[in-house]
Amino acid sequence: MKLWLDGGLQDIKSARVSVFDHGLTVGDGIFETVKAVDGRPFALTRHLDRLTRSARGLGLPDPDLDEVRRGCAAVLEANPMSLGRLRITYTGGHGPLGSDRGEHGPTLVVALGETQRRPDSTAVITVPWTRNERGALTGLKTTSYAENVVALARAHQQGASEALFANTVGQLCEGTGSNVFVVLDGEIHTPPLASGCLAGITRALTVEWTGAKETDLPLDVLERAEEVFLTSTLRDIQAVHRVDERELPGAPGPVTAKAMRVFDERSGDDLDP
Ligand code: PLP
Repeated sequence: MKLWLDGGLQDIKSARVSVFDHGLTVGDGIFETVKAVDGRPFALTRHLDRLTRSARGLGLPDPDLDEVRRGCAAVLEANPMSLGRLRITYTGGHGPLGSDRGEHGPTLVVALGETQRRPDSTAVITVPWTRNERGALTGLKTTSYAENVVALARAHQQGASEALFANTVGQLCEGTGSNVFVVLDGEIHTPPLASGCLAGITRALTVEWTGAKETDLPLDVLERAEEVFLTSTLRDIQAVHRVDERELPGAPGPVTAKAMRVFDERSGDDLDP
């Protein structure tokens, strides 16, 4: 298998990154996961915009987006996938920590392999840990994801596939790797970016294509919402059939099912040529 590193394709078995790279040692790096359909990346420009925003948020030099595009194209050509994912990683390198950031580490593009379309619905849990809506890393897609990994492990232990966080003021925020939407009185709502959630690309497209409203929502909205669904690059739109102990029979409900149809129909337009 081939990956992109140091400006060219390399064999995954012999590719090397520094053991001192801060992306590895302290999570000083950023990443993107990009869907690819028949060798074409989905919404790549949006992912690259977010990569640049995350780099700036960490104080890293802007990534070379031409290189990242070339890397994505080369990796997709070398690793044919009908439905797959690419992971782009860009790190702080191995200079002094907290320095003036003239330097950066490797730009890496890896194919995550062929993926199955996710089931139409899934179970989620809520976790007692909070997302900080005012932290230095809020809204950045950094490689400091260990808190998400701990929450996801708890979800898996409880037979769920995602864990949802509230923020420090008790408002619904997001999942470990997804954004969350609820249906109230037939209308779709999702927490605003000020809740501390990541500006998910699937979230943004869902808001655009369904007219979902961005609304501050208390965590306990999950106890009364008519429907709940998740959005992410890995899930597209996925209905929720259980939140903690609460069953949501019949998921996907009618509003979610319509959103899923709209998403499937429109998303072909966002494939890169
Ligand atoms: N929230 C978090 C914390 C994420 O890590 C992700 C994606 O990985 C999302 C939301 C969903 O974002 P996207 O739709 O861009 O995949």
